[in-house]
Amino acid sequence: MTEKVLIPLTDLRRRWAPQPLAPAGQLLDALGRPLRDLRISVTDRCNFRCSYCMPKEVFDKHYEFLPHAALLSFEEITRLARVFVAQGVQKIRLTGGEPLLRRHIETLIGMLAGLRTPEGLPLDLTLTTNGSLLARKAKALKEAGLQRVTVSLDGLDDAVFQQMNDVGFPVAEVLAGIEAAQAAGLGPIKVNMVVKRGTNEGQVLPMARHFRNSGIVLRFIEYMDVGATNGWRMDEVLPSSAVLDLLKSEFEMKPLSPAAPGETAERWAYADGGGEIGLISSVTQAFCGDCNRARVSTEGRLYTCLFAHRGHDLRTLLRDPTQDDEHLAGAIAEVWGGRSDRYSQLRSSADAPAQERRVEMHYIGG
Ligand code: SAM
Ligand code: SF4
Ligand code: SF4
Repeated sequence: MTEKVLIPLTDLRRRWAPQPLAPAGQLLDALGRPLRDLRISVTDRCNFRCSYCMPKEVFDKHYEFLPHAALLSFEEITRLARVFVAQGVQKIRLTGGEPLLRRHIETLIGMLAGLRTPEGLPLDLTLTTNGSLLARKAKALKEAGLQRVTVSLDGLDDAVFQQMNDVGFPVAEVLAGIEAAQAAGLGPIKVNMVVKRGTNEGQVLPMARHFRNSGIVLRFIEYMDVGATNGWRMDEVLPSSAVLDLLKSEFEMKPLSPAAPGETAERWAYADGGGEIGLISSVTQAFCGDCNRARVSTEGRLYTCLFAHRGHDLRTLLRDPTQDDEHLAGAIAEVWGGRSDRYSQLRSSADAPAQERRVEMHYIGG
């Protein structure tokens, strides 16, 4: 297993004076950025082996995934989520690995759907999935309280898609999952396409044609240098500007203003009213300035950046009967208050963390 550097929070556990929890107010990091968006990885396992995320050569039958006892339980996840929500989190995204592989995930969704912000509002509760199990699960997910889903799909051509998922999974089954999600009312649906130069750039226009006029927002993601195993090379990144040029070669496109602060995607619309697309330019155009995202790994470590090489151990606090919610809130406030991450801005500078130490994407989610 790839080494994950752990920051023990328990050494500090007596330092936090209990404070009133709800409403604890909005946390700000060292650069003045609020904490709004929490991504929770519910499993480090996946039934795909996307070459940019879990290359087969590394994640083979000898790879040691986390044992069940290491995973946060649904009760632990919900307790943690409640503490985060009291401190300003408004949106929770379940991810992984493949989140629909976690058994009884609907039960967790039902528990999270019951949470309310300090203003009494429900959360924006969503999930990112490879879509392989969505046709079977969409209805139950909706009934449990999930509002919407993001589905990853890297092409419409089976040969290209199967090369990318590397387990021979057919496009048709993902499309059936997307249809089931639409039918269940899990919208607005987003579809994420990672674009790798030389692999699936030929799928940009077919994907755009397919999802135009469908109400589904297709988002093109630059291939990122996350983790240490995908053998990332800059020359395999197709910049969003090139994706936009491709789109403009066939469609008239017009820019849209951001939907919300901290929004990762630059929005564009088809001028004829055929809907919108998103460009996520994590490599060529850093968006650290208003990054309001925290991530909790499958085993309960808090990461304040996708490119971090260190996680803060919340699970030990969660499992310590002497530590109550106020202590947890204090630990989170301390970590977020000290946050100054801006990896994408620093990518090419000497301050950027070395690639071999970065956390893997399947472990903290996207
Ligand atoms: N298994 C689920 C899925 O694929 O949707 C959820 C987890 S996956 C790690 C979350 C997102 O990260 C997916 O949309 C995936 O395409 C994206 N992703 C993974 N590795 C990436 C990379 N190297 N560059 C850009 N996006 C990546
Ligand atoms: Fe699995 Fe998602 Fe990673 Fe692909 S991107 S290997 S589907 S976790
Ligand atoms: Fe946020 Fe880190 Fe990505 Fe910058 S590099 S946008 S700080 S997750």
